[in-house]
Amino acid sequence: MKTTMHAAVLRQFGQPLQIEEKPIPQPGPGEVLVKVRASGLCVSDLHIQDGKIATVRLPYTPGHELAGVIAAVGAGVPPERIGQHISAAIDIICGECEFCRTGRTNLCRKLVRIGFERDGSHAEYCVIPAQNAFPVSPEIPFEQVTGIPDAVGCMYNGLKNQARLRAGQTLLILGVGGLGMNAIQLAKQMGAIVLATSRRADKLETARQMGADAVIDTSQEDLRARAAALTGGRGVDVVLDNIGLEWSINEGIAMVRPGGRVLVCGYISEEFRVNYQEIMKFEKEILGIRGMTRQDMAEVIEWVNQKRIVPYVYKTVPFEQINEALDLLRSGRAKGRVVLTFPE
Ligand SMILES: [Zn+2]
Ligand SMILES: [Zn+2]
Repeated sequence: MKTTMHAAVLRQFGQPLQIEEKPIPQPGPGEVLVKVRASGLCVSDLHIQDGKIATVRLPYTPGHELAGVIAAVGAGVPPERIGQHISAAIDIICGECEFCRTGRTNLCRKLVRIGFERDGSHAEYCVIPAQNAFPVSPEIPFEQVTGIPDAVGCMYNGLKNQARLRAGQTLLILGVGGLGMNAIQLAKQMGAIVLATSRRADKLETARQMGADAVIDTSQEDLRARAAALTGGRGVDVVLDNIGLEWSINEGIAMVRPGGRVLVCGYISEEFRVNYQEIMKFEKEILGIRGMTRQDMAEVIEWVNQKRIVPYVYKTVPFEQINEALDLLRSGRAKGRVVLTFPE
């Protein structure tokens, strides 16, 4: 029986991760040991590496987009769960605060996140609370499963709970990329009309394949004029800003109709200035997105199991090449999620 594993460890901010040999962790009461089969890379992994996330303590193993198989269970967890294919909810929640009680578990006051405040999935094995391990259909490829808790999940929360997107409404996605490709599929399932924007023709091509009704190439076309033309001058109902710059937020506010909503998801800028009059006089809204709730997780898994949506994966990379994969993400050349894969 194997007792050690390889894990990617961040020892110093601003440095590459190191693949180290470590003991396989043991699941405590209420926990499960997961044999990791795929682990998604996220912009947050870059922020972590850069030392921009204050709650991270080194050394540790990042990775919060976990797909794998339950290999062992701790006390109190039914042994029948061994062998289940799972997707892991990122947030470990208290279950008792006002947000947990009212179902907004993503805002839990005592939130601890897998791969942020404790070891994550960029390793051959990972221990998580059994509650966080949601079974998924074994038919879904592991690399797609990694999209569920974050790349798909946060878009689902944003469109459904925050933007309250309805059938027949128009959604415009600013800076369509890894998250946006999933948002297109979700919004189409919700019955919306989807406009996708990018400066890159290859991203727009993929956006069309994902179901976008129209695309706007912002390197060639006037964004506001095209958005107005495509909505018959009435303005879009919801803008999803996946760029996160002062410029993009203001474009969003300008393009939504009176009473329209701008969802902010990218986090590049710390601060931004907006036209306050536009917000006040036209009852426009700027809305945040933070992860997703436990209920959203269950719903997204249903949609993925039914193949109503296919989480978008740009590229898979063997786990040992994690630093190359992070560099690819950092270069901005990836059109979507880059996912680390592990042998069976
Ligand atoms: Zn993430
Ligand atoms: Zn709570």
